[in-house]
Amino acid sequence: MDAQQQPKEALPTNASTLNTSQTDQPLYTPSMIEDERRAQLAVNLAALGTSFLVLFGIIAIVQGRLSIGYVLIGTATLTALTATTLRHFNQLHRAGLIGMLILWLLAQYLLLTGAIEGTGAYYSFPLAMLMILLIGPRVAVFASLLYMATMTAGLYSELAWVHDYSATEKSRLIFAKFILLSMLTVSEYTRLMSYKKIAFTSEAHRQTTLKDPLTGALNRKGITVLTEKWTKSQQATIALFDLDHFKNINDQYGHKAGDDTLIAFAELAQQNTKGQDAFARWGGEEFLLILPDTKLHDASTLVERIRHQLEQHIVQSHDHLFSVTCSVGLAYMARADLFDTTLKLADELLYVAKNQGRNQLVSSAKHRVGYLSPTSRPYRTGTADNG
Ligand code: GH3
Ligand code: MG
Ligand code: MG
Repeated sequence: MDAQQQPKEALPTNASTLNTSQTDQPLYTPSMIEDERRAQLAVNLAALGTSFLVLFGIIAIVQGRLSIGYVLIGTATLTALTATTLRHFNQLHRAGLIGMLILWLLAQYLLLTGAIEGTGAYYSFPLAMLMILLIGPRVAVFASLLYMATMTAGLYSELAWVHDYSATEKSRLIFAKFILLSMLTVSEYTRLMSYKKIAFTSEAHRQTTLKDPLTGALNRKGITVLTEKWTKSQQATIALFDLDHFKNINDQYGHKAGDDTLIAFAELAQQNTKGQDAFARWGGEEFLLILPDTKLHDASTLVERIRHQLEQHIVQSHDHLFSVTCSVGLAYMARADLFDTTLKLADELLYVAKNQGRNQLVSSAKHRVGYLSPTSRPYRTGTADNG
């Protein structure tokens, strides 16, 4: 990938030739993973930070520094309560932002009041740093600017509770904080960009494992990914296509012509599908078309259109011009768990279509899945094979 090219959140799909939208959805987008990472970081920091805060708070109270002691214990309680509440209400994705606000306030408090003899400033550095790690670089820019502004205003204010830093200390604190926050924001931005590239590459690789390299149609694994996403009540009509006398094309015009025929059929079929439809190469010259929430009658019309178009289509491979036909078995799936059964039925109906003379569609029509008896007559359309 071009280094200048920013990875997109969702992968681009080869929309001109593919209609595999259901599997083109990445399992997790980079931002989903980032959000989860930040939420997890916030929760872990809350657990660790609470322990530190309680410890330092107790020490401060024992030493008689009550106000700083109460602030530390109060922040610990607030952090623990917030984390527990967010977890309880399943709102952990907000943990990063809320954690950032808590860190922002605590760091400002420690720096401006100086806590114990001005040493609060030291602790404000790691806290401000963690604040940046809990939010994306974009929010970090605003948070940093606001942090710097309030910090500078506070340091140069005449407020009684602000620690009396020397003029040199004040300017050094501001510069050091500025360097820390800006460098960390740049570092986070760089990390996020390279992480997105990794995620993009990995997702692109996953997509290629779901597709047949020759035709660009889904492969069996792609179909599995798709069917795993179905709810129990998913209905669909399933068409199993097999090119007729395909071996003859290979024998007469060569293997390349066979390949070109497969590509031509896949393109033609996919031009007729849309939206949720999934088209897959099921084996050598066998293709599967899954039409979710489509009744048998509507599916028959579509499949017949594909069959008819193929019949009319002239395949060109090198100097050869030839045509090809297909046979189709069509079956209705009433529930997702009947996928294998429906496929088996479609395969049986395809076999019937071949036996009845090829270049035709045999549909389970009124036959229910698993109820195709040897005596029941499948519904047939199409013209008999002349070859
Ligand atoms: P039928 O009408 O009964 O389906 O006959 P057929 O010739 O289409 O079926 P058969 O199973 O006898 O032959 C299928 C052929 O498909 C054999 C195999 O070499 C060829 N084939 C399988 N995969 C590919 C491929 O990727 N490219 C090419 N060119 N040929 C392939
Ligand atoms: Mg075959
Ligand atoms: Mg065949």
